[in-house]
Amino acid sequence: MRLPCDLQSAAAALLLFTSPALARRIPDVIEGDNLDDKDTSVRQVAIIGAGAAGSSAAYHLRKYAAQYNVNVNITIFEKTDHIGGRTLTINPYDDPSLRLELGASIFIEKNYILNQSVEEFGLRKKDPDVGSDPKMGIWDGEKLVFEIDTSSSWISQLWHIVWKYGIRTPKRTNDLVQETVSKFLRMYEEPYFPFKSLTQRAYDLDLAPATGATGEEFLKANNIYGAYAHDIVQASTRVNYATNIGRLHGLDTMVAMAPAGATAVQGGNWQIFQKMVERSGATIMLNTSVSSISFAKTGSEDTTSARYRLRAIHSSSQEDTSYPVEFDNVILANPYQFSDINIADGVLETHIDEIPYVRLHVTIFTSPFRYSPGFFGLENSKALPGTVLTTLGKTDNATSGVAGAGSAGFFSISMLRKLVNPKTQKEEYAYKIFSPEKVTPEFLSRLFGVKVPETFIAEPNDQSSAEVSPISWYYPHVFYSYPKAEPRVTFQDPIVGAGFYYTSGMESFISTMETNALMGKNVARLIVDDMRGVESGGVQSHDGSLAPGQQLKMTCDRAGRGAGKGGVRKAGEVPKTRPTELPEMPLVDL
Ligand SMILES: Cc1cc2nc3c(=O)[nH]c(=O)nc-3n(C[C@H](O)[C@H](O)[C@H](O)COP(=O)(O)OP(=O)(O)OC[C@H]3O[C@@H](n4cnc5c(N)ncnc54)[C@H](O)[C@@H]3O)c2cc1C
Repeated sequence: MRLPCDLQSAAAALLLFTSPALARRIPDVIEGDNLDDKDTSVRQVAIIGAGAAGSSAAYHLRKYAAQYNVNVNITIFEKTDHIGGRTLTINPYDDPSLRLELGASIFIEKNYILNQSVEEFGLRKKDPDVGSDPKMGIWDGEKLVFEIDTSSSWISQLWHIVWKYGIRTPKRTNDLVQETVSKFLRMYEEPYFPFKSLTQRAYDLDLAPATGATGEEFLKANNIYGAYAHDIVQASTRVNYATNIGRLHGLDTMVAMAPAGATAVQGGNWQIFQKMVERSGATIMLNTSVSSISFAKTGSEDTTSARYRLRAIHSSSQEDTSYPVEFDNVILANPYQFSDINIADGVLETHIDEIPYVRLHVTIFTSPFRYSPGFFGLENSKALPGTVLTTLGKTDNATSGVAGAGSAGFFSISMLRKLVNPKTQKEEYAYKIFSPEKVTPEFLSRLFGVKVPETFIAEPNDQSSAEVSPISWYYPHVFYSYPKAEPRVTFQDPIVGAGFYYTSGMESFISTMETNALMGKNVARLIVDDMRGVESGGVQSHDGSLAPGQQLKMTCDRAGRGAGKGGVRKAGEVPKTRPTELPEMPLVDL
């Protein structure tokens, strides 16, 4: 049940917190929940970050609170001016009516939270933006090793694959993907949902053999190797995770191969999270970066009833101010290492480890030109596919980072859509490149076989140069896109302090909008169960011998490390744990 809003106290609290400049910037602050933190029957929950995880946490917190008749007040702090985090769009030609996904661009039919939300919010789906040319090729830096027309009939595509790779390996891969995804999907259901330990669930669901091996090892262990793994599977892991199968763990490798029913939301996937936040009734603080978290009452020995004090900086004033509400729960819904938050000593009971992330250059631009066949070492007459994925060349190795792109030098180029250039009124193509390094004019000159000037953009008001400009509009962006996801068998747990939750441990397990939304939902459920005095999220071993609240003794204890870096297994090492031996799980040799 929601309490009626005490708007006066809410407004007073906001004014206390905000600088005069912020107080005038009304859209940055959306008043939702009652801010009276003296009412002990109401849980005050702070969510830091309004990406997939934070938005889902807010939305599900509101839903569970209504379902179980408990009271929560939610405040969301978001550093940027938008909801969605790494799910965001940009406007080609700076035209607000046109939108292209810059970050997370697709989700699949098995992404239950996203699909249900799209339906509930009345959003409209569309095909992902690779429709202007349905032909797809895989390039190894020397030659196109595979080409397919994705608009041809299902049988013709199948025949094409079988002709090149035989029937057994593609079938085995498909079966393995289905089997692995089915195991993962059990995480949505009782007794596996909710969960206090991701590591535990990796073992409960027999997913540790997949996370504990590289994609290559996991495939080999299932009799999948050779050209199909090298070309098709690796092209998928490179476009989805900018990583080769010799480095990426097996679970992410399976996820990269599971695009059945790929879809997107018309106008941008971020709208799912925008609606989630709206429905949560939370107070939303945009352009507000949390700078520190400490106990509200210092010196208190009793951390079980801890309350937290947050300080934050508004982008316009740059003043670091204490937020006027004390919080019972904090949900840190972003990778801690990039958050610039100082967490006071004693607040974290579990160390949050730094995770190596991929630094990915995403460049979107428009051009009237198509790729030059010469770039791909082909005859000039050859029609090239609109989407070119890449794999390693014969002499390349699987190193991650820039070298990991191999001879190809980039991970993928997709022709997203045909657009009409508003200046020239001529049809052009919108392209997206994923690369480990900045895209240069020299690279684009080779790609299109025309001279691309040092500055990509045509002079303003110069129609003639706009007409011939090979790059009429461009937008480069660098993301810490997702973890490098090397093999590991332990993961950061979602509870990191008393009433203090962390969602981004999910990213080393599987990094997608859906999985982070699942973690947000999981944390929401744990908070509401805690309010109800219900013990949940514990072990459900295969023989049911352990109580629901009981935690398996893990390699990482509550006070210590082990769930992060320490859990990373070096490529080539074989995981030493066996899921069937859960209760006696030996310490993983780190
Ligand atoms: C280029 C790219 C392509 C991708 N493609 C796909 C795809 O096709 N499908 C898919 O499912 N996934 C894809 N992903 C992955 C997906 O985007 C992420 O897994 C997911 O969006 C992460 O959500 P999150 O909420 O955990 O984190 P984020 O989206 O990063 O949200 C965290 C939020 O916290 C905010 N924040 C950080 N620090 C503070 C602070 N101190 N105070 C206040 N706020 C703070 C940030 O501004 C941000 O909005 C892609 C990612 C990238 C980068």
